[in-house]
Amino acid sequence: MRNIVIIGGVAGGMSAATRARRMNEQASITVIEKGGFISFANCGLPYHIAGRIENEADLLMTTPQAAWARFRIDARVGQEVVSIDRERKRVLVRRLEGGFEYELPYDKLILAPGANAIVPPIANVRAENVFLLRTMEDTRAIRDVIAKQNPKRAAIVGGGFIGLEMAEALRDRGIEVTIIEKMPRVLPPMDPEMAGIVEQTLARHDVRVHAGNGLKALIGTEHRVSAIELEDGATVETDFVLMSIGVRPNVELAKTAGITIGASGAIAVDAQQRTNDPDVYAVGDASEVVHGVHGKTMRVPLAGPANRQGRLAGEHAATDAAAPAGKVLGTAIVQVFETSAGITGLGEKAARDAGFDVDTVYVLPKHHAGYYPGAEPMRIKLIYCRATGRLLGGQAVGGQGVDKRIDVIATVLHFGGTIDDLASLDLAYAPQFGSAKDAVHIGAMVAQNQRRGDSVAIAPSALDGQQLVDVRTPPEFAAGTLHGAINVPLDELRERAWADLDQKRPTVVFCAVGQRGYAAERVLRQMGFDDVKNLKGGYSLAMVK
Ligand code: FAD
Repeated sequence: MRNIVIIGGVAGGMSAATRARRMNEQASITVIEKGGFISFANCGLPYHIAGRIENEADLLMTTPQAAWARFRIDARVGQEVVSIDRERKRVLVRRLEGGFEYELPYDKLILAPGANAIVPPIANVRAENVFLLRTMEDTRAIRDVIAKQNPKRAAIVGGGFIGLEMAEALRDRGIEVTIIEKMPRVLPPMDPEMAGIVEQTLARHDVRVHAGNGLKALIGTEHRVSAIELEDGATVETDFVLMSIGVRPNVELAKTAGITIGASGAIAVDAQQRTNDPDVYAVGDASEVVHGVHGKTMRVPLAGPANRQGRLAGEHAATDAAAPAGKVLGTAIVQVFETSAGITGLGEKAARDAGFDVDTVYVLPKHHAGYYPGAEPMRIKLIYCRATGRLLGGQAVGGQGVDKRIDVIATVLHFGGTIDDLASLDLAYAPQFGSAKDAVHIGAMVAQNQRRGDSVAIAPSALDGQQLVDVRTPPEFAAGTLHGAINVPLDELRERAWADLDQKRPTVVFCAVGQRGYAAERVLRQMGFDDVKNLKGGYSLAMVK
């Protein structure tokens, strides 16, 4: 009988355990989990705090009793693996209550210990009103403080995915929220101008953001923090603090046991999730992945990869065979009030750093046919390789439909596709679902135009010395335009261009989002203006401060 032991009983660990059972009815499968719960929905925790998922039990995908009843998985909670003896193939387990220790033998060991929230080494960080959000226990503590102390103000340190979800959750609870983010923008995995749109949403909901300004000190006592001092000396008064500045892979146990840690700081694994010891696997936040675009190893601490890797490792541990791990693209999405923001593949800077010949496009299509009621705009950015047309990444911010577009782009990335592939995808269409030319098609077609040289786009940062032509309507122009721009509406351009514009000057045309600008660019070029460019993303993107 094969003896499979799994360390960590949540996303990766329980996926491994259940898959192992489905593949091998004879195996003994033991899961050791140091927390009080197995298989809980980490991703649902902010919504339980918000009160949208009121019942805590709804977050539990299974319990040790149910795991035993259905799968004969022996899941032991409140117990921690404290060491691994690879020579004797045993782990040492400690019961957290009472400290009793015992050894557990294994034939195959799966490490799924996740990641730990980063806690900065500063004074007062362990105060009673400074919280982390990783576990059910953390969630209970935050709900408790809201229920019993009725706090008015919260400071969230870290404007990443969890920080943003918590900002919304706490606003739902009527709490004033301030986000403190060291990077220039919230949502650091997203390109800054796209994340700027998310900041506009936060401002609409009275969430204050201090970006580009890190935490310097927690002011108060070791019991209670009353304010945060920022790097620029400003202070933010608060009734409680949520620390969400990122996670660190939980690798100490593996490291001590001589398991190889990769350059990313997470456990190095092969395509079957095996470590340098073929009988020891690692999955989830604790292990590193090969990025599907540039092929480098890195950490992608997300639920999707953890679940897929767990399933793979469970199957391999149970049967000695499994199809290799799929690509990881860092595909992720977050909802911040009415705005959804999604990313997949490489951002612009990461793509340049990886050595690609990068170009980008921005489009602002509707999520379904504009004439059908309820169409919502979304900003899509595509990152692609100018030389080959290969798609490198995509980002989208908007209302409904962002998820679908990010997933479509991720699918093309998975297959190493190009902007031509994206432009020619045969997607489902009816007015309430999309457009005959879908949002992703439009982005890809703009990229095709750029690649062919039919259109040359220029970034808002490179406009010095250009003749700026605003081709929007006079009322739009009157409501605000770029400094020095003249207004020649698109519909009058053919008649007025010779008289009103200087053909010899390099010219940049622009509209709100780039579409009329492109049409104007094509008109002027065919009239003989030979240095005409279209403003990337139009006036609306140039205005994202
Ligand atoms: P985990 O699910 O964290 O499980 C690891 C478990 O191992 C822990 O329960 C820990 O107690 C246990 N453990 C550690 N060491 C030991 C030991 N020595 N002995 C016994 N047990 C041990 N990802 C998304 O893709 N989308 C989302 O929307 C999303 N939202 C999130 C929201 C929150 C609040 C959080 C905290 C995470 C979110 N994530 C999200 C991330 C996602 O939950 C993780 O990537 C995923 O859970 C990682 O799975 P894992 O199995 O590696 O680790």
